Formats: sequence, structure tokens, C-alpha cells
Amino acid sequence: MYLALRKLNVLGSVLYIAAHPDDENTRLLAYFSKDRTYRTGYLSLTRGDGGQNLIGNEQGIELGLIRTQELLSARRIDGAEQFFSRAYDFGYSKSPEETFTKWDKEKILSDVVWVIRKFEPDVIITRFPTTGEGGHGHHTASAILANEAFTAAADPNRFPEQLKYVKPWQAKRILWNTFNFGSTNTTSNDQFKFDVGGYNPLLGKGYGEIAAASRSQHKSQGFGIAASRGEAIEYFKTTGGSAPVNDIMDDVELTWKRVPGSEAISKKIDKLSASFDLLHPENSVKGLVELYQAINKLADGYWKNQKLKEVQQLIEQCSGLFLDGTTSEQFAVQTDSIRINFFLNNRLGVNAVLKNLSLDALDSSFNTTLAKNKNVIFGKTFFVPPTKPLTQPYWLENKMEEGYFNIKDQQKIGQPDVDPGYFVNFTVNIEGQDFNFRKPVKYKFTDAVKGEVYEPLVVIPPITFRDFNPLYIKTDQQTGVEVSFAANKLVNIPSALAVSQTFNSKLDTLPFLIGGFSLDKKQLYTELITDKELNTKVYKINTVPDYHSGGFIQKSITYDHIPYINYFKEALLTVKKIDLKTIGKKIGYIIGAGDKVPEALEQMGYDVTLLGDKELSRNNLKQFDAIITGVRAYNTDEWLNNHYSQLMSYVNNGGNLIVQYNRNTNNGPLPRIGPYKFEVSSTRITDENAEVKFLNPDHSVLHFPNEIAQDDFKGWIQERSVYHATNFDKTNFETIFSMHDPGENNDEGSLIISRYGKGTFVYTGLVFFRELPAGVPGAYRLFANLIALNKQKAF
Ligand SMILES: [Zn+2]
Repeated sequence: MYLALRKLNVLGSVLYIAAHPDDENTRLLAYFSKDRTYRTGYLSLTRGDGGQNLIGNEQGIELGLIRTQELLSARRIDGAEQFFSRAYDFGYSKSPEETFTKWDKEKILSDVVWVIRKFEPDVIITRFPTTGEGGHGHHTASAILANEAFTAAADPNRFPEQLKYVKPWQAKRILWNTFNFGSTNTTSNDQFKFDVGGYNPLLGKGYGEIAAASRSQHKSQGFGIAASRGEAIEYFKTTGGSAPVNDIMDDVELTWKRVPGSEAISKKIDKLSASFDLLHPENSVKGLVELYQAINKLADGYWKNQKLKEVQQLIEQCSGLFLDGTTSEQFAVQTDSIRINFFLNNRLGVNAVLKNLSLDALDSSFNTTLAKNKNVIFGKTFFVPPTKPLTQPYWLENKMEEGYFNIKDQQKIGQPDVDPGYFVNFTVNIEGQDFNFRKPVKYKFTDAVKGEVYEPLVVIPPITFRDFNPLYIKTDQQTGVEVSFAANKLVNIPSALAVSQTFNSKLDTLPFLIGGFSLDKKQLYTELITDKELNTKVYKINTVPDYHSGGFIQKSITYDHIPYINYFKEALLTVKKIDLKTIGKKIGYIIGAGDKVPEALEQMGYDVTLLGDKELSRNNLKQFDAIITGVRAYNTDEWLNNHYSQLMSYVNNGGNLIVQYNRNTNNGPLPRIGPYKFEVSSTRITDENAEVKFLNPDHSVLHFPNEIAQDDFKGWIQERSVYHATNFDKTNFETIFSMHDPGENNDEGSLIISRYGKGTFVYTGLVFFRELPAGVPGAYRLFANLIALNKQKAF
């Protein structure tokens, strides 16, 4: 509270800009926010959708949802505010030029300009330079966009459609926060620099400690780090505006002088600070209310709004006011009802009267004096209308493009989080002034281990589909697709209604009419859509009438370190007929970092057994036609080292071991993987259309049982191959393909095959884990050939 009180007299702001969750300098953010008490923000252009996930198998938008929440957790610790653009993290990119082919540069630039015009930073800081030392193409692109936006935000002719909400803004300067990442050191002593390694006695923490706690929230990336103490110098290079000489805020007015007519405000704040009683913050409330009223009389403007918010928050804290709207149910179901409980307590006994409570259609007046430390508790049951919007992250509401989310509402851009299903507005009169406190309604429960837990309240439809594999490969082994749906309330479905398919919003014929039935809450109904009725196309699975489900699969993601995540995806089923022959039946799959290859193998008709440490020890490996390791298995499964000789003797006796990509880490090189020495490089082919040359056209992997041709490399997504094999002896390993990214040299390490004893060993960086779930036919056919390698007599 005292820190927040001091902050009221500081009118300055800093915006940090980079590309991903984890790019931000949490020590610098903590220092600006909690030492200098500037309004501090981090604009991460992406939500980190394309990175690797160390704690689960979520990928793409799901990983973006996790990292969004991790960033918000980090910001709660370092005190900065979080923003995002529409840009999608589509994976590794070697150059900004490549990045901009997917991001739509003008759109993302407009987002950066929008956030700058809204946030009005005095100083903008980029993590990366425009010149490429940041490595990743997204990094360089983020710096290019930030520097262009620095100018464009001030130009009323750029993105004029934004000007009905915001005004042009010229930041004083833009600087690159140079770095020393060990391998690359871009700092030097002649750069502008200052120490951010101080200690905050009010918080009892140093900025290096706060920064570590914040950065350690990036758990999906395994970025837990140790706290640092002592001097910590940050270095800067000016890339736009005037260079700082004495202070990074040189020539920025940081006091109330920047607001006309505010002469008395600063003195009032000084007085409140001087008389602040740490044991009795409620004694400051009257003065804070007077301050609020004085600020409210100023002409409208950025700092007036910002400081009114800060003062109101401080009044709430100094009053010890507790205001809460909760449910005992996690979901509000459309067309059902939900009970919401309200709880108020004026713990320090300021003059407070509840005047009004509103929530959706409810708008109730009160005149209830809130007595000191007395609980005021009441509840009300609400009908959830069928038109109540589902709780869907706003950036997933529309179909996305390859490189960015489609967001129609300009005012949503930049917003970090999902809109809560319900808000409750409490109007409380405190010391003669009405204040409106807007609180999201939460689902509250007590867990025997975790204690009291608050989670988001989520609006869902009466019927939701259970997740099913969205890709159906028609083969001889399959009979159809099972689709299950769950009732979220009691639903009666008369016989005239049915599961239907729609495609391109045209209602298709209804080949799988189901009879009338009713389902109790939480009951599940499963229907088999038979193979014969399915053609090669995309189906939308739905119930009729649509409002029962909207045709959505409800997806949830739960981890202890972040709030419950819910989103809906359309119940779409892509049916594909792939010209595919398979040899062999039984596959052992060693799960690595998590991928969806096992599901694809089952679709191909194989029996898949998942193998962990115990299963590998116990199982007779000879039964498997092939053993496949999941992506980065040798990175994530330390126990795999103990099975080296067992796996080699499996190969020696006629087995087939297929190792998908692994990478070198800071913990040193990889353990032994194959029967002969090879290493893993960081070579990757990021162009998904890169030309593939066949080095060894007679090799059985190109002919048995499927004939592989150039067509099999069409329609790949995101990239071709990662972490290639290198430094291997060509007498032991055969190479099959040669490929390269634009402007780079050919590389032959995407697939290496070795004969060992009676069996075969394969290492491949080819991204089957991306192509198989995407239904790319050539990837299926080639993978089937890898599995058949040891079945071909004439090798
Ligand atoms: Zn990054």
C-alpha cells in the first residue's frame, strides 16, 4: 500500500517489446515497476504457440493458452502489465523476411501501433536488434516492428481507423536492451547503462529475486532460474529519438506537472505519504477519497484515468474491503440456471454503504451500511440464456490464418486474457463517494490438499462433444468413428432430432439418425459413424437443433501453476483416404516430450503399445515389428540410457528402432543412441516446401511397400525437418534425402539408416510429429516404409 501511495506521484511509463513469452527481461521489468514505480508493460507479439512444451503434450494454440497464463502469472509477480498482438508463433523462422510472409506485416505493425497509442509509453525498449543478432526471425521482426511503430504511432496518417479510440503518440525514445547470452555478447561499456540489481525494503526483496520468481513461471519451457543478488548492469543502445545522457527518462516529465491544472495533487499525495499509518491504513481513506475527487475534476486524459484507477485500488486495500462473487459450480450451462453467492466485508470499518449490485440482467439497489468486520452474505439464482456467450478465448472465436489470429473487434487487440463469463459490479459509497468495483465471478471450492481455490467460471452449452481424433484415415482395418457427447444438464432429444453433418454450413444428408432419448446431467452418449457413410471431406458433427451444442468439443487444460483453461473447438472430422500399404502390426512407442504420432499409427492400422521404463524392462521386445521413440525421448527420459544395450540387441536380432529427433542441450551432448556413432546438429529445414532430392533412389525405403515420389513431399506443413544427424560415417549409415532452406547448403542428415545385425536402425529429423496429425499423405506412406525396413530381405 505504501509503495502504491508513493507511485501516485510518478507519471511515467515504459513499454518492453519482444516476440515470445520468455523473451522479456523480468529483472528490468521488476526494477521499472517496483523501484522507479513507472507504469510498465510487456508486449509479446505472440503467445508462444510454436515452442516446445516440457510439461505436457499441448501444442499450437493450446500451448499459446498455457503460455498466456504463465505470462500473466509472471506479471503478477514483477508488476508489469501484459499485452499481445495478433501474431501467431508458427514455429522457428530463420529470417524476418520469412516471418513477414506469414504474419502480414501491416496487420501486426498496426497492433504494435495500437498498443503504443493506448499505453502511451515515454520510453520503448526492445529485447532484440533489427540486425539479426537475436537469432530467431521472430526476434528480429519484433525489433523491426517496434522501431517502425515508434514513428508510425505518432503519425495520424498511419492506421487512422484507430483514432476514434486513441490519439497519435510519440514516445521520447526507443532503445535496444543489449544482451550477453553467453554465445552472443552485444553489450559494451560505452553503451548507456545502469544498475537494476537493487533491494526494495518495502517488499523485502531485491529485483533479481523478484525477476527469478517471475521468470520461473515459464514452467512449460522449463525456465526455472535462481535468484540473483548484487549489482546487475543493463545496457542500452538508442535506435530512435534522443539518446539518454544521465537517465533513461531524460527530458521526460515524471511528475504531475505533465497534467494541466493539477498543482494541488502532488502536495496532497506527499501529505498522505507522510501521515500514512502502517497499522491503520484506514485512517488514509478519507484523504484518498478527497484525492480521488480532486483528480476526477481534472480535464480528461491518460494520466487522470490511470491515477483514478490506482487511487480506487488503494482505497479498496486501505479499507480492508472484501468483495466477492462466487459459485460452487465450475460451469454455467446455457438454458440452465446457476446460483451466485455474494460476500462483502468492511474489515477496517471505514464509512461504507453498499448502494447497488448488478450482474447481467440483474440491477438491484441497496442501502446497506457495511458494519466493521461483519460479513454480508447473500445469494441469487440466475437463468443462463441460450444467447449467453460461451467462454471462449476471444482470439480463437474466428478461424485463424496461418500466421495470425483473426480478431474483428479493434478494442480487443492487445488484451491478454479471456473475458470472464460473468462480472459482478458492486457500487459502494466510501466516505461520501460512490465507487464501482467490477469483479469477475469465480468458481470457488476447497481442495483437501491445495486449500481454498478460485478458478474461472466457464459458460458452456447443454451438450458438448468429447474430443475425438479430428483426422480419420480410411483403411481396411477401420470400421468408423466413435463420437461421444456429454449432457451438461438434463436434455431431452425428441426422435426427430439427430446427429447431423454439415459442411460449408450446408446441411448434409443424415445417414446416422439416432432415436429419441434423454440424458441426465453428466451422462454420455456414444454413436458410431460407420466408415461406409464417410466420404473424403470435412464434416462438422452437430446435434439438431444447433443450440444444444453449437457443434463444439469442450477442451480443458489444467496445471497447478496456472488457472483452469477452457476453450471450445468445432467438432470437425476430416476424412481422408490415403493410398497406403503397411507391413507389420505391432509397434512399441516410447513417449518422449509428447506427440500425437501413436494416434496416427493406430489410424494406420498398427497395434501400439506405449513403453515406459518398466515396460521396457519387462517386455519381450522381440514381439514388436518396430520400436519408435517419441520426439526428444532421449532428452526427456533419462532412464532411456539404461536400455541402450537392450535396444541394440533388439536391433541386432532383427528388430527395427526408429528414433525421431532429439537435440543437444546445455546439459551436454546426447547419450549413445544408435549402433554406430553419430551426432545431432541444430540444422533444420524450416521451408515446408524445400526441394527434396533423392540421394539413393534404389533404397527400399523409397519403394517398399509404398512407392515414394516427389508428390509425397507436397502439402507438408510448418517445416520439413529439425535437428539433423551429423558426423556419421557413411560406411555405417546410408543417407536418403538431401534438402536445404533458401540460400543455404544442402544437408543429408534428415534421415539416416543403418543395418545392424539382422535389424535396422533409423534416426530422422523429418517432422512426422507435425505431418501425421495434419493428415499429410506422403508422411504416412514414408513412415509406413520406415516401419517395414527390416521386413525387406534384399536390403
Ligand atoms: Zn523468443
